[in-house]
Amino acid sequence: MPSANEEPARAASLRYVIIGAGMAGLLAGIKLKARGETDFVIYEKGDRVGGTWRENRYPGLACDTPAHSYTYSFAPNPDWGAYYAPGPEIQRYFGAMSDRYALGDHIVFNTEIASCRYIDGRWRIDTTDGCKDIADVVVAATGVLHHPNIPEIPGLADFKGRWLHSARWPEGLSVEGLRIGVIGNGSTGVQIVSALARKVERLVHFQRSPQWIMPCPDIQYTSEEKRAFRDDPARIEEVRNGPEAAARRARFTSAIIDIDSPELAEIQKIVEDNLENSVRDPALREKLRPNYRAACKRLIFAAHYYKAAQAPNVYVEASGIEQVEAGGVRAEDGTLHPLDVIVLATGFRVDQFVRPMVVTGHNGADLEALWRIHPRAYYAVTIPEFPNFFLLNGPTGPVGNFSLIDIAEKQWSYIEQLIEEVRVRRSVGVAPTLRALETYEAQRTEAAKRTVFASGCKSWYLDAEGAPQVWPWSYAHFVEAMSKPQVEDYEFFGN
Ligand code: NAP
Repeated sequence: MPSANEEPARAASLRYVIIGAGMAGLLAGIKLKARGETDFVIYEKGDRVGGTWRENRYPGLACDTPAHSYTYSFAPNPDWGAYYAPGPEIQRYFGAMSDRYALGDHIVFNTEIASCRYIDGRWRIDTTDGCKDIADVVVAATGVLHHPNIPEIPGLADFKGRWLHSARWPEGLSVEGLRIGVIGNGSTGVQIVSALARKVERLVHFQRSPQWIMPCPDIQYTSEEKRAFRDDPARIEEVRNGPEAAARRARFTSAIIDIDSPELAEIQKIVEDNLENSVRDPALREKLRPNYRAACKRLIFAAHYYKAAQAPNVYVEASGIEQVEAGGVRAEDGTLHPLDVIVLATGFRVDQFVRPMVVTGHNGADLEALWRIHPRAYYAVTIPEFPNFFLLNGPTGPVGNFSLIDIAEKQWSYIEQLIEEVRVRRSVGVAPTLRALETYEAQRTEAAKRTVFASGCKSWYLDAEGAPQVWPWSYAHFVEAMSKPQVEDYEFFGN
C-alpha cells in the first residue's frame, strides 16, 4: 500500500483494488493472476478469507446449492463430503483456494475501506484506519447478506439470558441442554432449528410467517464416490451441468418468472405434498402452511425441518412476539416461553451492498444520491458516472436459488471484456450511460412485476415499496447478457 502522501505514477498496466476476500473477491484475484496481472490488492475487513462462510458459524450452516455447483468452475473439488456441503467445509475450500492461487501476499486483512473517490481518472481509496491507496479499477465484492438485521423487539435489552444474531454465533458457544428460542424461519432459522432440535432441552421456533419447504436429499459422499469424482471429472460436470441440473435450473427459472407456468405449479405441488406427507398433526400442519405461492419468498431446501418441528421438545410459536422479558419471550397469546438463549435468525439488511463505504464518482457523482430509492446498477455490474467501478453480486442480480459462484464468474468475464475495451480504446475508464441504466431498470421493474416474488408475500427480495429488486428474467438471459457487454450502452472516459 502506498504511504499516506505518496502518489504512485500511472503505470502502463492497471492497478486494481478489490474490496472483500469472500468468494467473489477471491475469484477476482485468481482471475487477475491468471491473466498475469500482479498489481492488485484485496482489502478484507475480517481476519480471514471466506466472506459469508467466515462470518456465519451457526449450527446447521450449509449451502443449499449442490456442493459441486457451489465450486469455482476451474477448481473442482472431488472431496466434497456431502451433496449439500456444510459451512465449515466451504470455508476450508475458500481458504484452500487462497493458498492454491497464492493470494495471501495480495490480501490486506483487518482493513475496512471508508471511501473510494474518482479523481483525475483514478480511484483514491481511504481505509477506516487512515491509510490510502490508488487504483485504476475497483472491484466491489462486498457481498449481499452481511449486515445483520437486528429488529427492534420490545424488551430485548432486558433479557437476562444471552441473545445473538445468527451471523454472530460466538466461537465455541454450545447450547446443548439449554432452552433456545429461534426467531425467524428463513433458510438460516430452518437450518438452526433442524440442527439443534435434538440437542437442546427445549426449542421454541418463533414463526412470523410460515415457509414452504422443498424436500431435499441428505446425501453424504462415501470415499468410493469421492474417488470416482476424482478419477472421472465428467461425474462432477454431470452434477454441475448434467441433464438433471439443467432441468432443475430451467424449472426454477421458468417458475419464478411466470406465476402461471406449469413449472411453478409443479414446485407448488412438491412443497404441498412435502407438508402433507411430513407433518402428522393437522393443527401443526395448518400452522406451518403458508398462504402465498411457493418460491415467493426464497425457497427453503431442508431435509429435516419438519421432523425437527415435530420433536417433543420443539414448539412452533406462530402467534407473534409480544415482547422479550427478563426470563424469556412472551407471545401475543400471552404465553411466556422461558429461555436461556435467543437466536435472531432475522436476516440481513440487503439494501446495503457497498455501504457504509462512501463512493464518489466522476465529477463528484454521489452513489448515495443515485441509490437514494434503492441500489441500482446496470445489469447488476456497472454504475453510470463511476468509471471502472465494478460490482460482483451487486444489486438486481440473480441472487435466488442459483450458484452465486457461477453468477460471479459470468459477471467477471463481462468485467474483463469491458476492461479490455478500455485498453483497446486507450481510454482510462468505462461506465454505462445513465440512459442505459434507466432503460435497464424500466425493463427490469416491468418484468419483476410478473415474477413470483411479486405474487403476494414479504421477503428480502422486495424494496421498501414492495418492488422486487432482483433479476426477473431467465438464467439463460443472464448468461447471454453477461457473454458480451453492449458497448454502445457505455461511455469511455479519457484522462
Ligand atoms: P431471511 O430469509 O430474511 O429470513 C428472516 C426471518 O426472520 C424471516 O422468517 C422473518 O419473518 C423473520 N423476522 C424478521 N424480523 C422479524 C421480527 N421483527 N419478528 C419476527 N420475525 C422476524 O433471512 P435468512 O434466513 O438469514 O436468509 C437470508 C438469505 O441468506 C436466504 O434467503 C439465502 O439467500 C441466504 N442463505 C442461504 C443459505 C443456503 O443454504 N445457501 C443458508 C442461509 C441463508 P417474515 O418471513 O415474516 O418476514
